[in-house]
Amino acid sequence: MLREFRCDLHIHTCLSPCADLEMSPKAIVEKSLKEKLDIIAICDHNSSENVVYAMKAAAGKPLVVLPGMEVTTREEVHLIALFDRLEYVKKLQAKVYNRLPGVNDERIFGCQAVVNELDEVEGFNDHLLIGATIFSIEEAVAVIHELGGLAVASHIDREGFGIISHLGFIPPDLKLDALEVSAAMGITEARREFAELYRMPFIESSDAHFIRDVGKGVTRMCLGEGSVKELKMAFRKEQGRCIVEGSHA
Ligand SMILES: [Zn+2]
Ligand SMILES: [Zn+2]
Repeated sequence: MLREFRCDLHIHTCLSPCADLEMSPKAIVEKSLKEKLDIIAICDHNSSENVVYAMKAAAGKPLVVLPGMEVTTREEVHLIALFDRLEYVKKLQAKVYNRLPGVNDERIFGCQAVVNELDEVEGFNDHLLIGATIFSIEEAVAVIHELGGLAVASHIDREGFGIISHLGFIPPDLKLDALEVSAAMGITEARREFAELYRMPFIESSDAHFIRDVGKGVTRMCLGEGSVKELKMAFRKEQGRCIVEGSHA
């Protein structure tokens, strides 16, 4: 049975130095339920250490938490990686840490807290998560695909860290699975603004760094269940799965 799922596939936690400290896995899950979201993805900058706790916080609740990460490529372009299973985002994390130079200075960039499902601090990450990896965009997309994930260009409508503002265009041979626009633009306007990209699936996400923003950007999708496998089918319009475009719910 297919039904409509409300998805916000780009949410940061307090592990991202630029995100609010109140973005604990537990608080995000609570706000997501309040916003009647069905699927969220936790996508911290170059790390995934809070994903497991968000999954634990959502256990037994009507909310699917997908393991994700927002990878910064050496061109300073942001890419969202989405996976079905924690072990694959962990594999990506190991590769990213090997290609992410620098150490965080929390006085300059902010705190990178690993917080469990009970709001207890487990530790602090000292990688320079705000920095760029040495992966090129093509390499990052290939690694995400090798691990069975989906690669989505983040907030293509924004100046900062967006693929279009950095490269001027989307390389036609780049195997992106979808393009994300921010809530400020939305999918309907994106279809007009980026008419030449009509073949590509578009999603809208909140890119929330503050609790109040969770669920501000939502993509409605017709799916059989909350999984990356189903998202992939919706991106490709397979077997009735699709992204619901048009007026906002
Ligand atoms: Zn970003
Ligand atoms: Zn982001």
